[in-house]
Amino acid sequence: MTDDTRILISGAGPVGLTMAIELTRYGVPIRIVDKAASRTDKSKALVIWSRTLELLDRAGLVRQFLDAGQTCHGTQFSNGPETIARVSFDSIDSPYPFALMIPQSETERILETHLKELGVAVERQVELTGFAERDGRVLSTILRPDDQNEVIETQWLVGCDGAHSAVRHGLGMSFEGSTQPSDWALADVEITGLKDPDRIAIFWHSDGILAVFPISDKRFRVIADLGPAGDDGHHADPTLDDVQALVDRRGPGGIVLSNPIWLAAFRINERKVRDYGRGRVFLAGDAAHIHSPAGGQGMNTGMQDAFNLSWKLAMVARGTCKPSLLESYSPERSAVGDVVLRNASRMTDAAVLRNPIAQAIRNKIAHFALDIPQVQHRIAQTLAEVEIAYLKSPLSVSAPGAESIKGGPAAGERWPPIKADVAPVGSGSVPGFTLVGEASVTESLARQFPALVVGTGTGPFEDVLWLVRPDGYVGLTARSDDVQAVRAYLEGVAM
Ligand SMILES: Cc1cc2nc3c(=O)[nH]c(=O)nc-3n(C[C@H](O)[C@H](O)[C@H](O)COP(=O)(O)OP(=O)(O)OC[C@H]3O[C@@H](n4cnc5c(N)ncnc54)[C@H](O)[C@@H]3O)c2cc1C
Repeated sequence: MTDDTRILISGAGPVGLTMAIELTRYGVPIRIVDKAASRTDKSKALVIWSRTLELLDRAGLVRQFLDAGQTCHGTQFSNGPETIARVSFDSIDSPYPFALMIPQSETERILETHLKELGVAVERQVELTGFAERDGRVLSTILRPDDQNEVIETQWLVGCDGAHSAVRHGLGMSFEGSTQPSDWALADVEITGLKDPDRIAIFWHSDGILAVFPISDKRFRVIADLGPAGDDGHHADPTLDDVQALVDRRGPGGIVLSNPIWLAAFRINERKVRDYGRGRVFLAGDAAHIHSPAGGQGMNTGMQDAFNLSWKLAMVARGTCKPSLLESYSPERSAVGDVVLRNASRMTDAAVLRNPIAQAIRNKIAHFALDIPQVQHRIAQTLAEVEIAYLKSPLSVSAPGAESIKGGPAAGERWPPIKADVAPVGSGSVPGFTLVGEASVTESLARQFPALVVGTGTGPFEDVLWLVRPDGYVGLTARSDDVQAVRAYLEGVAM
């Protein structure tokens, strides 16, 4: 690899930083610019879910997150003083069976510090103002703090520049969707008097929802819907007294708020692009999808966009894979984005019901359904994003005869992370596939494809071969003796 910049990342929020870390650890020279003078100091996205932790583990970053955050083991729905239902996170099928509560400001601090340790500094007060693709290169114009323009020439540009993305605007892509017709209040405060402060508490009051999320010892996030939005634009930010009044009315009583860190009013947008890129320009994170905070999926989904795109860009940049590998990014992540938007929208619709009959039906259904352990488990698995799979991806192949093999993940499904003391698939400094199966077969194939297969292992079933991608999803399943299927797959992606 030469040391010329291959990729420009616009935006150093959690998604741009994740992208920068992944590409840098895989040895791809990048630059990352952000128009803001400093990182966010707001708690914004509060939850890191299990699948994101599993993927961060590949970069050796989980310990820092676990040390800085607080584990949360479940959520409780109540109707003021009466409990309607509970969802436990303990059954999540992951080495991290919990929601990690950590303010976004902390998440960004850990990511940016790690990126710096890898030798890359975020270029701040540097704004991407335009770009054009020419002769197989992207020419991006940035405005520097000294008011000078600079043109950066790279092979690819990745827009991680948030909901108002300049990259998305530059591509002329529409952000299809709508703004929800209700106002919401948010408060980061200290709280006393909350029973079971380690759980997420959701109160379904007849006036609307009140949700309380633990952030750290005494600090909590309170969110409440304020009813239909007026025509007069932005709702005024609430005062501490306003939020206390909402908590007194909708909560179980006895909860006292103090020391507000952040008080804000907001509206929910549900929007997404159809394609996550065009040519040599890609979008990831809020630049590609925004939705309700219900379920805490926004930042996690964005960071997982970055995990998906970065190994593909790295393998193409390093000359190991054909550029057509990049064509799988948009269909894989856009399908995930559709599901996340739909689920977040359903959760929000259920939360803002105003009709008393509809509220009573919702509460009864939740009470009965969430009493069934399998339903609870399914919800927890979905929230934790461990069930995301790329079943319809062009990169997911089930070789003839493999469909009938029972047991183990199918093509496109997540390769279950094994013991935490074993280096996870996709870790290290070289991106590549891991071949799992009988040792004599996998080792011989690894020798034939040294640039593509970087690891081998023995699987849980003797009659199967799995080819696992660097982001921990199964690319290929084949019968244990079907070396031809593995060869065809690898030759299909190889440069
Ligand atoms: C009030 C609030 C509460 C939220 N709560 C939750 C929650 O509970 N759970 C959850 O998952 N999500 C939540 N979110 C959403 C979450 O914050 C986002 O999903 C997350 O920040 C997306 O990360 P990102 O890196 O894609 O974009 P951003 O964090 O928006 O980062 C984009 C970066 O790009 C920079 N930038 C923009 N334009 C340019 C340009 N032209 N040139 C250079 N740099 C540029 C910006 O300065 C910014 O630093 C919340 C958001 C808000 C506002």
